[in-house]
Amino acid sequence: MVSWICDKCGYNMEADTPPEKCPSCKKECSFVDNSCYTPDCAGKPTDPRITGKE
Ligand SMILES: [Zn+2]
Repeated sequence: MVSWICDKCGYNMEADTPPEKCPSCKKECSFVDNSCYTPDCAGKPTDPRITGKE
């Protein structure tokens, strides 16, 4: 399972592949891989599309 996060609304879900449409905001968003692969990321998103926001 991979953790995915919606780049529009931040909806988080786990699936093998990301859905075409976000079940939360219903937009055709880009689900970005939110999985943590490095021990020092402390569970935080590492994708710049997520971390560059906010
Ligand atoms: Zn969404």
